[in-house]
Formats: sequence, C-alpha cells, structure tokens
Amino acid sequence: MSKNSSAKVPDAQGHFGPYGGRFVPETLMHPLQELENEYRRAQKDPAFKREFEYYLREFCGRPTPLYFAERLTRELRGAKIYLKREDLLHTGAHKINNAIGQILLARRMGKKRIVAETGAGQHGVATATVAAMFGLKCVVYMGAVDCERQALNVYRMKMLGADVVSVKTGQQTLKEAINEAMRDWVTNIRTTHYILGTVYGAHPYPLMVRNFQRVIGDEARRQILAKEKRLPDLLVACVGGGSNAMGLFYPFLKDKSVKMVGVEAGGRGIKPNQHAARFHGGSLGVLQGTRSYILQDKNGQIQLTHSVSAGLDYAAVGPEHAWLRNRKRVEYTYAKDDAALAAFMKLAQIEGIIPALESAHAIAEVIKRAPKMGRNKLIIVNLSGRGDKDVAQVAAKVKL
Ligand SMILES: *Cc1c(COP(=O)(O)O)cnc(C)c1O
Repeated sequence: MSKNSSAKVPDAQGHFGPYGGRFVPETLMHPLQELENEYRRAQKDPAFKREFEYYLREFCGRPTPLYFAERLTRELRGAKIYLKREDLLHTGAHKINNAIGQILLARRMGKKRIVAETGAGQHGVATATVAAMFGLKCVVYMGAVDCERQALNVYRMKMLGADVVSVKTGQQTLKEAINEAMRDWVTNIRTTHYILGTVYGAHPYPLMVRNFQRVIGDEARRQILAKEKRLPDLLVACVGGGSNAMGLFYPFLKDKSVKMVGVEAGGRGIKPNQHAARFHGGSLGVLQGTRSYILQDKNGQIQLTHSVSAGLDYAAVGPEHAWLRNRKRVEYTYAKDDAALAAFMKLAQIEGIIPALESAHAIAEVIKRAPKMGRNKLIIVNLSGRGDKDVAQVAAKVKL
C-alpha cells in the first residue's frame, strides 16, 4: 500500500488505502473485470452521459430541490438548514440514480436479465422499476425474514414484473440475499448483470455506484452557491452501505472548509447485536467482496444487527467511508432508534415532510448540531428518501 497521499484512490485494483479491493472466487474475477472495462468505456462516452442525464431528468425527476427548512431552522436557533430532497425522486429515494446508471450499462453490454439483492425492498423496487422501463427480465433476491417484514415492497416488485426469490438460508436477511444474487450472476453471466444497490462489494462497484450517486452532491453544490453565494459549513447524511452519503460528500471532498458527518444506526445502543454502527463496534474484515469495517465476533462470525430502519441495518460499510474516516476527512457518529423516531416526527410536524426512517437518523444529528452552530453557518442534510414506506412501522411504536 502506498503511503503517498497523492496516490490515486481508488487504485487500479479498487483499493481505498487499506480498504476495498476484489475478494471474490475465481469465477467472479472475469465478470467483474468485464464490468469494469465496460464502465471505463461508458465513462468516456458522451452518449452514455447524455442518456444517463436524460433518464435522471425525464424519468426520475432531477434535479431535486435544495429546500430551505425555515421552521426547523427557526426552532433550533442555530445554523441555517437546507434539505437535499432525494425523497421527491421517482420511487421515493436516491437508489434510483444508481439503478438507472447500472441498467444503462447492462444494456450496453447486451445483457437481457437483471439480478439484484434487497433488504428493506427499496433497492429491489428501484431495480424492478428500471427493468420494467427498459423491458429487461428482473430477479430480486430477498431474505425470507425481510420478505415478511416488507410484504408491501414484495408485492410492489411483483407488480412491476419482477420475480422475487425468498432466501431461506442463514439469518434470512440481506447478507444471504447478496450471496444468492452473486451465485445467480456467476451462473448466468452471459445474459445477466448484477445491479448492486450501494457503495459496497468488489471493485468496481464502490467506485461506480459513488459516481452514479455523485449527482446529488454536484447539484447541491451548484444550488447552495446559487442560493447563498458560498459553500456549506456542514454536510450530514445517514450511512447504511453509504451510497447517499458518498453521493452528497464526494463533490465537496476537496473543499477543506466543508465539514462532513456520516450517521450510522445506533439501534438500541452500542452493544453486540443491538445496532449497526460499524465504526463504533466493528473491526476490519472482509465480507462480500471487499475489505472494510464489519460487525463481527472474535472468530470473524458476522454479528446480528438491529436498527429501526431496515435500510441502515447491515453488518458492513462501504470501503471509501472507512478510508475517509481513516483520513479524518469525514466524521462518523450514530443516532439511536429513539432519536431517529423523534426526528421523524419533528420533520413531519414542523416542515410537512415525512422522511424515511434512514434519513431521520441524519435529521437527528442536525437537531443536535444546529443549535451549537452560529446563525451564519449553513448545513445541508441529505433527505435520502420519503417515509411513506415506514408509516406502519412507526405507527406500531409511537402513540398519537
Ligand atoms: C437504502 C437507503 C439508505 C441506505 O443506503 P445508503 O447506501 O447508505 O445510502 C438510506 N436512505 C434510504 C431512503 C434508503 O432507501
């Protein structure tokens, strides 16, 4: 590993310093290389960029507003708070940005069939949506436990024409679903592309997904400069695998004055099996193709995780986040379930916006920090998704 800070990150093998890489069986090496080659070609092709921007605009509804949260700002008596409204995108979250990028890539490669993994179902819905739109066959792998918890999203994917395969191995959740999606991909490699949903997995996925999501930060940067004539002081985003956070942060990384905070799921507190804050109870390890921070026991067994928000409930975090934390460029903290639920209610009642429970973790951090910052300071928080999907779950926990 090079200690030279000006060395290219990620390097040609997808290493972000000591993190990332490509830890897969031999059978997956070739498909990943083929994918990387096609992605590199697409990046240089203006037609690909035009097409990507066309669908983001016409199908997804970009650009999303950068909205001044006036009443939240007034109530917190501190920094001025802007919401990046990814919740207004088609299908209700940022995941569609990446799904569009990858399906265009799949089409370029002549693939006829898409596989994907999903936990809560949001990435599955985004993938089923773009597959329907382009007329490609779609199979979504989902843990049996998740299928039960998220029955509505299962039905939604089926309505969109996807096959949903209920995975009954292991803990029957996201990790097992990813294993099955990879197995399918390797078996059907000639016809099939695997649309992975976050900045995770083997190279080139973390790099590629970040680049498809950076549209969030590119827009936010332009929008804040137009509205405030200056850069923000603080960016805040929730971190599951880390794609909405990377998307917002990446275009600001070289702006030294811009501080950044990633918010993980603190669940019921930082005790084994009670949270998904990989940077607060995890350690270095290899899982599902990459090296990063992972919640594991002394024997390297993956620990159970818990979060009120299914989208943050995963035992590992994207390797670029581990690198940014290592470099002290981004600070990582966590919000517990109760703080996220309180933030969920607060935003609904004070701004008329029901956020996704994932995004509510970022709002919870803003509620903590804004009052301690001067009124001349600017915060941008990524509202990664809308909360319609979470209403039933919140209703079961909060009496009104
Ligand atoms: C999936 C999801 C997340 C978590 O995924 P990242 O890759 O960390 O962004 C966050 N917010 C919403 C609304 C999601 O659907």
